[in-house]
Formats: sequence, structure tokens, C-alpha cells
Amino acid sequence: MSAGTINLIGVPYDAKSSFLKGPSEAPQAIREALFSGASNLFSETGVDLGEVDGFREAADLRIENSDEGFGTIEEEASRLLTADSRPIFLGGDHSITFPLVKTLALTHRPSTLIHFDAHPDLYDQFEGDRFSHACPFARIMEEGSTDRLIQIGIRTTNDHQREQAEKFGVEMIELPKVPSDLGLSAADSVYVSLDVDVFDPAFAPGISHHEPGGMTVREVIGLIHSINAPIVGADVVELNPQRDVNGVTAMVAAKMVKEIAGKMATD
Ligand code: MN
Ligand code: MN
Repeated sequence: MSAGTINLIGVPYDAKSSFLKGPSEAPQAIREALFSGASNLFSETGVDLGEVDGFREAADLRIENSDEGFGTIEEEASRLLTADSRPIFLGGDHSITFPLVKTLALTHRPSTLIHFDAHPDLYDQFEGDRFSHACPFARIMEEGSTDRLIQIGIRTTNDHQREQAEKFGVEMIELPKVPSDLGLSAADSVYVSLDVDVFDPAFAPGISHHEPGGMTVREVIGLIHSINAPIVGADVVELNPQRDVNGVTAMVAAKMVKEIAGKMATD
């Protein structure tokens, strides 16, 4: 497929966070890090994102940050997505991935979803809410929005979520195992969902759920670079600027946006 237009779309939403609020402030923090004078806009693969159509444009979903607002995410995403757009959604908490992937799948259904996270987010319901940020991948698999879900960096699973993974045929790869080959072919299309808590909190403290023993930034960049199929969309979620230290986590999130966009621009 052609590279199309890479759109950065902010989703300032954290009403489905179970523990702390804050990710609604992340789209702004990621953009500030991305376009700050601290770095340039070249991805490591040599793409100058400053020259890529649409990359500098800022758009946010116009949604209320409340339980009611969750139901408007699909409609709002439809309004902003065009036939040739490859969105990188800037979360927001992880609940947004279900309505966003569902909407994207109407026009660009990903065959494979690559999910980086400390947590499997496969709960059938969490504290009575089936749309909690602990549940999006259960909803995605029920909806059939993808054929294959690969989870990487997982280090918090429990019996219930193991059963859910089994039920949905999820490839849950738990640390310390890191895949060397994602088993993709050029015929696949990929959506990347990156929860910033996949990293060790030493690299990325600005998150709501510190889970020690996580991945390095370099490991995750290596996996992103190894995706040998078109990336049709992505999200970077769960940055909590209220917990960040000197903006270091916002810069990690911005770096992920650059490397994902660099891949999108070159397949
Ligand atoms: Mn998550
Ligand atoms: Mn997580």
C-alpha cells in the first residue's frame, strides 16, 4: 500500500483508568516532546518526518472525558480518518484502543495486532466495567477486529487473563521471553498498540502503574524496526505526565511515535 498520510491524532481521555488519572494530558506532552528543539525529526531508519505529509498537523478527537464520552470515540475517529490516512493515536488511557481499532478495521482491518504492555488488558470486566483500560483486548477479540494478537512485555498476568488468552487464541509472550521473529509476511497488515508501561519504570517513570522488570527502549525499537509488513495504524497510550520526571517519559513516547512513523513511511 502507499504510505498515505500519517496523522497524529490526540485522544485526551482517561475516564476508564482504574487507578490514577493523568493520561488525558499526554497528547499535548507527547507533541511538545516530539516538536521540541531537543531532537530532530529523523527516524533512525533515515526518514525525515518533518517532510512527511500531515505529520506536523495536530488534531484531537473532540470527546468528553467521561464514561458517556467513551461512546463517542468511534464516531469522532471516523470523522478524522480518511481513506489514505495512517493514524498514530496519542492516548489517553488504553481503553481507547478498542473503539479506535474497531473504527479503523472498517476500512483498513489489521491482520495482526502487536501489543506492547506490562499487562495483558484481557479482563472480561474490571471493577464492573467491560470497557475499562484493563479490558480492550478482550473486546477487540470478541469483535473480530483482527486475526492475530501478539502481546509482548507481559509481566503481570493472572489465572483469569491466562484463560482469556487461551479462549481468544492470543499469543501472550511473557518476559523474560522477547520474540526474535514476529512471523509476519508482506501480505499482513499490522496495528501497533504501545502501552508505555511496557518499559521498565527506570526508562519511563511517567505512567500510572509502575511494574518493575520491564523492557528497554532499545528492545522495543528493535521489535518495531523488525515489523516487515505495512503498519496501518498505531497508538501510544498510558503516558501520565503528572508522574513524569523532567519529561523523560514523554520523550520516550515521542521516540516511539517517530520510529513507528518512520516504518509507516517506508513500507
Ligand atoms: Mn495497557
Ligand atoms: Mn499497562
